Order: sequence, then C-alpha cells, then structure tokens
Amino acid sequence: MPDVRPPRNPNGSAGFDTGVPTAARVYDVMLDGKDNYEIDRQVAHASLEVMPELKQIAVHNRDILHRVVRHLAADEGVDRFLDLGSGLPTGRNTHEVAQEADPDAKVVYVDIDPLVAAHGEAILGGDGNTAVVTADIRRPAEVLAIPEVRALTESDRPVCVMLCGILHHLLDEEDPRGIVSALAEAVPSGSFFFITNFTRLGDAPESAELERVLLSQLGTGRVRTPAELEAFFAGLDLLPPGVVPLPLWRPEGIVRDSTSVAARFMTGGVARKP
Ligand code: SAM
Repeated sequence: MPDVRPPRNPNGSAGFDTGVPTAARVYDVMLDGKDNYEIDRQVAHASLEVMPELKQIAVHNRDILHRVVRHLAADEGVDRFLDLGSGLPTGRNTHEVAQEADPDAKVVYVDIDPLVAAHGEAILGGDGNTAVVTADIRRPAEVLAIPEVRALTESDRPVCVMLCGILHHLLDEEDPRGIVSALAEAVPSGSFFFITNFTRLGDAPESAELERVLLSQLGTGRVRTPAELEAFFAGLDLLPPGVVPLPLWRPEGIVRDSTSVAARFMTGGVARKP
C-alpha cells in the first residue's frame, strides 16, 4: 500500500479534522447526507447562496453516474469500475448499480478523504468484489500501484475509469489532463473514461462567482470552459452524444428542462480508449 500523505490543500484532510471543510463532506451536504460537519455546511451554504440550484445539480450528477454505469455494465459488458473521487456512500453507489447488471462486476473506490474509506468499509461488509481505498489521484502512479487497483487494470479486460465530479477539485497546476493521460496509458484498449466537471456558462455569471467562493473557502473548485472539458478526452473516442449537459447524456425519460443553470452547470461525457 503506498504512503498516503496528507493532501496539499483542503479538499481532503488527514484524519478527521472537523475544522477543515472537505469536498466529500460538502457534496454530502448537497445530497442531504448526514456525514458532514458545521464547517462543511458553511461552505455548502455559501455556495448555495451563489447558486441555489447546486442541490439539483448534485442529483443530476448522481443520475448520470447511474446511467453510465448501468449502460456500460449492461450493454457494453464492462465488469471493472475504477471510481476515482468516489465520495461518501450515498443512495445508490457504483457497485450496487454495476452488480445489479452483473453480479460479478468488480468495483474499486478511491478517494482522498479518509472518511470515505471509513464509511465505505462499513457499507461494503464482506463483498469480495468491491474495495475502497484512500489515495490521491494527483499521484496517479501511486494509485495505479495499489494492489486492488492493479487487480482491476492489469488484465486485458476493459475498465471504466470514473472521474465523476472530481477533476474540478484539481487545480490547473496539478495537471488534470496529464493525470487523465497517465490513467489512459495504464488501462487496456477498449476501456472507458467517464468525466463530469463544473462548466463555465457565458450567460450565468454565478458560474464564475461560485468558483471564487469554492477556491477561497474549500481550496478547490475549478469551473472550466467547454473547451477545457473537451480537452480531457483528447486521444479518446467520445461516445454519442459527446460532452453535454448532464441530463442530456442518454436520458432514460423525457428531459423537461435542458436550458436552466441546473441542467447546464455540469457537463460530462464518456469516451473509449482506441
Ligand atoms: N464521484 C462522486 C460523484 O460524482 O457523485 C463524488 C464526487 S465529490 C463532488 C468529489 C470527490 O473527489 C470527493 O469525495 C473528494 O474527496 C474527492 N477528491 C478530491 N480530490 C481528490 C484527489 N486528489 N484524489 C482522490 N480523491 C479526491
């Protein structure tokens, strides 16, 4: 197991420091979870003041995650999921969705926040196909060297690498594109990459304002342009419909509202490694 050093900025905290907000716990507030502290609620409330739609956006993000995992497991035969920045356990988690389609599907959850592994182990129990580990994706070589991760990536079976709602917690100088590339090099051809990210909206100045609040209070929270988001998929083949507002990625019902800030502030897509 690699050395998991304390993170360099407050998007995770070593140990359970209740005085420093973490991305996992702030997101938990958005999803009406209970695994958060006053400091996390303060960041969440400051964010909601700027963008009241954030709770709905978090739900859209969970919904696309469920659709993508279900589609890949049921229709593409993917039985390996590497869920990076998986977050605290919530309503329906990746292993539950994947294993509903394929009971043998293997899932490894990775998160920088040690609270995730603490809670994750509790809900996983003795499930031999699912693991949860604490690691920092800013050091992809270390993540890839974790035995549970190696067991997923070191066969020729395609893997779904999930970067759902995590890359906006990496600053530009932490080279998120380079991290995606390093991961893409490590997985077999035919593997999938699933990415969602905060997206700057030209007609909604609150998208830029939210970045200011998150960077100052949480230390991360980059709101990226559509072009920056497309660039994460460089060298990969995007699946239709491409990088789109979350509710528009292969909706399973009628999308009643695709023009609001709630629908458009996060965009995402899925691509296949050639
Ligand atoms: N993937 C889940 C989802 O989309 O519903 C949770 C997303 S949550 C907004 C972002 C997660 O990324 C948090 O749990 C946070 O701890 C984790 N995270 C942030 N930076 C990370 C890093 N450098 N390495 C690993 N996890 C990280």
